[in-house]
Amino acid sequence: MPTLPKLDIKNNCNHSPHVVILGAGASFAALPDGDKDGRRLPLMNNLVEVIGLEPLIEEYGLKYEGENFEATYDALVHSGQYDELVGEIDAAVENYFGQMELPEEATLYDYLVLGLRNKDIIATFNWDPFLAQAFQRNMHVVGYDQMPQIAFLHGNVAVGVCCSCKTKGWRYNACDRCENRFGPSKLLYPVSQKNYSSDEFLNSEWENLQNHLKHAYFITVFGYSAPVTDAEARKLMLDVWAENTTKDLAQIDIIDIKPREEVKESWQDFIVRENYAIQSDFFDTYLSMHPRRSCDAFAMATLQQRPWEDNNFPEGLSLEALQDWVRPLAEEEKSGHLSGNPCGKEN
Ligand SMILES: [Zn+2]
Repeated sequence: MPTLPKLDIKNNCNHSPHVVILGAGASFAALPDGDKDGRRLPLMNNLVEVIGLEPLIEEYGLKYEGENFEATYDALVHSGQYDELVGEIDAAVENYFGQMELPEEATLYDYLVLGLRNKDIIATFNWDPFLAQAFQRNMHVVGYDQMPQIAFLHGNVAVGVCCSCKTKGWRYNACDRCENRFGPSKLLYPVSQKNYSSDEFLNSEWENLQNHLKHAYFITVFGYSAPVTDAEARKLMLDVWAENTTKDLAQIDIIDIKPREEVKESWQDFIVRENYAIQSDFFDTYLSMHPRRSCDAFAMATLQQRPWEDNNFPEGLSLEALQDWVRPLAEEEKSGHLSGNPCGKEN
């Protein structure tokens, strides 16, 4: 039975979640010039060169000829003869991404974490620490309780785990139960046998995404193509999306610079009728048009026929100015009633 989103018309709050899924393209768009110190973001097809793994591979008497990193890694793992090399590659990759830092100015990651509420979730396939760093540096602005959930679907250099206590936290903090420092979350997976449920940490991250996707009223996909090579990821998302009883009314925004037809093809299985839009720029998305109010505004426009005025995120703000711009929205949330008025207008 199709159901309506959890819209409370007494206070204009829609409690259905907005789900944001990030892939490598999101980090590229957010940091086109690399990180704070100009470190480049590697992709699977140039990771060996960017991180400088070639000498390491050659030390083991192997020749690297420009193959895709995941395929190379997969072959090494399956051969069963290069455990030591695999360990060294893991360490080099973790070390490279672990050193990356957000620039001081506001990035798209700052806009993302400030643009959603605690009922919403941002799930990333990226190993880089940018989502975690953006979360940490903006948390004080709206308060931890009003920050969106975050999930790391392929592990992350900023997140650590304590296997004995089954807890997780920021990588360089200590486990609050046993006080030992967190160990790294596993980053690399042989591509041909990704098995998200075999690792407890990953399993819990995926469960968090699935719980939100099952009730999502808005989805924004940013720079992620749901590759057919990651069949398990597709299945985990599609299975719960199929159970989503509100999906007939929900909307998908896809941010991608690839040709539209190609993008639509990748997401065809997720798209309901024509309830989707493809943009090349984050600032053209509904999330950016109605920060912290996407699901509420969408329900008001489509179900209540009382559309709210757009409240576009201003582009090019300094981090401080962006944080100041968002504060009134977070304040209004505490009152429990959403006015739908744009920032700067009387509530
Ligand atoms: Zn512990």
